[in-house]
Amino acid sequence: MLKEFFFKHLNLYSWLKKNQSCLLCEGETNHLRGWIFCSHCLADLPWLPHTCLQCGIDITQAYQKCGTCLSQPPYFDHTVTIFAYARPISQMLIQYKYHGHLYYLPTFSDMLALKIMTHYKKNHRPLPDLILPVPLSISRLKHRGFNQSLEVSKSLSRALGVPYDENVLVRTRDTRMQAGLSLKQRRANLKGAFNFKSANKIYRLVKNKRIALVDDVLTTGATLDILAKLLKEAGARSVDNWVLARTLATIS
Ligand SMILES: [Zn+2]
Ligand SMILES: [Zn+2]
Repeated sequence: MLKEFFFKHLNLYSWLKKNQSCLLCEGETNHLRGWIFCSHCLADLPWLPHTCLQCGIDITQAYQKCGTCLSQPPYFDHTVTIFAYARPISQMLIQYKYHGHLYYLPTFSDMLALKIMTHYKKNHRPLPDLILPVPLSISRLKHRGFNQSLEVSKSLSRALGVPYDENVLVRTRDTRMQAGLSLKQRRANLKGAFNFKSANKIYRLVKNKRIALVDDVLTTGATLDILAKLLKEAGARSVDNWVLARTLATIS
């Protein structure tokens, strides 16, 4: 156990020892917010300057929503994201999720919190009432040791003053890994995979509430769409996605 902990955090220790230099080039971070990047690497990150209001896909500034959201709108209302799922962010999120590099979290969640505040102000919408992390199945949680979406939710909750609840949604069964599946395959794969933990309690918690679903990456949006449908059917007033990164390539 101790050995496992040590190896998991080995990178953290070496980073702290190196005086918190930039994780990508080892340059000086010297950033007021304590982020893990220097200003040059920060400028080179795959930022998403203009995205579809609803699904977060990269679109030209002339439009508010993408063609897919206009013709076949998903159940969720808005998506706030910071990065395209491209290098080095994609690699860092894999390290965060599968190798326990939790020390990336303060930087990424601070960036997302800033983007969220700008987004709601710009769109004249109040912040959501409740943050819900996308749940992991029990077996995956045991294997991974933590739910990456719950950790982001906790940080965002602190930064924004919006409560989070990890006991609303439950993943009722394990599904095949979603990577490499088309949207249609993902929907079929996810059928019946999520539910509420306790129907009565949830009705009270969710009805007429503005909900924010938190996940690390939005790929096709199939998971978030299924959860948004579930929440809307339970009376949620709106369901928004808060995600760190968004894949841009179309998966056919
Ligand atoms: Zn750098
Ligand atoms: Zn869209």
